[in-house]
Amino acid sequence: AQSPGVRNHVCRFELGMEDEIRHRRELEALVENAAANDAFELHFQPVVSARDGAPVYFEALLRLPRPGGGYVPPSIFVPIAEDLGLINGIGAWALNRACRAAAGWPDALGVAVNLSPLQFSGADLNQVVAQALAASGLAPRRLELEITEGLLLKHTESVLHQLQGLREIGVSIAMDDFGTGYSSLGYLWRFPFDKIKIDRSFIVGWQANDRHVAHILRTIVSLGRTLNMLVTAEGIEHAAQAALLRDLGCDFLQGFHFSRPLPEAEVAPYLLQPHTVLADPRRTPALQL
Ligand code: C2E
Ligand code: MG
Ligand code: MG
Ligand code: MG
Repeated sequence: AQSPGVRNHVCRFELGMEDEIRHRRELEALVENAAANDAFELHFQPVVSARDGAPVYFEALLRLPRPGGGYVPPSIFVPIAEDLGLINGIGAWALNRACRAAAGWPDALGVAVNLSPLQFSGADLNQVVAQALAASGLAPRRLELEITEGLLLKHTESVLHQLQGLREIGVSIAMDDFGTGYSSLGYLWRFPFDKIKIDRSFIVGWQANDRHVAHILRTIVSLGRTLNMLVTAEGIEHAAQAALLRDLGCDFLQGFHFSRPLPEAEVAPYLLQPHTVLADPRRTPALQL
């Protein structure tokens, strides 16, 4: 016979499962409701020039408001939206909203939109993108699409074909989260990405004296150079990280050091502020690589 202790343990475990299932149902209802009622928000995080710290483009980031206040993070709700078959509609909404917002900004500023792999197997993505551009009047060169390697793991040929079509529309394509997957490297020669975004996990918590990480970062930057791709580093939280990545040759920098993602209404006031100035290269403590 089971000891009472064991039975208690099993009960607690089952209760935990029930809680988890209830929590998941609540999140599903929240996502369904937001999709049906246009209740998502799109925030915009500046990406700045590593040369002078001036904003060059903004990354559009989805936000799901929580009833009690605050937001459910996209790392939680995007996979749920994918499971529910709602990501195509939400993704199209984000594209349209991002293009419309960017059309109101100064002409030199672009916008980057994240795509779920599922958007490549849903409705005709090229048409969705072309429509978002046409409806907003945004010049295609001002739109960048960010994809992850997860996308390329399956149906590589068909995806590469669609990316080529998007390129022909005139938008640019970035490989996001570079360096985290199994084979990011293996895809770089299959498609002429315009940009590589170095994943923030390399940078968050990185100390200037960590030579191993510095070597990896420098190698990624020189890989980008060789392949004629621009390089953005994300997750810059400190001035020292910004200066080091600039010195390593990154083109663009993104992170809380410059700005958190902003609600759309805060973009214009942000642009009026003096931008974060990067440390003078000659005054950066000697970088020993
Ligand atoms: P991502 O595309 O790599 O986006 C960058 C993430 O890094 C954002 O998280 C941003 O808030 C965060 N971040 C920026 N600077 C810093 C920093 O200095 N330190 C730290 N610790 N984090 C920083 P967020 O907004 O939570 O988005 C997470 C992920 O959700 C995104 O990663 C992207 O993969 C996905 N996502 C966001 N919006 C969309 C969307 O519209 N569609 C799809 N399919 N995915 C999206
Ligand atoms: Mg991204
Ligand atoms: Mg990224
Ligand atoms: Mg990332």
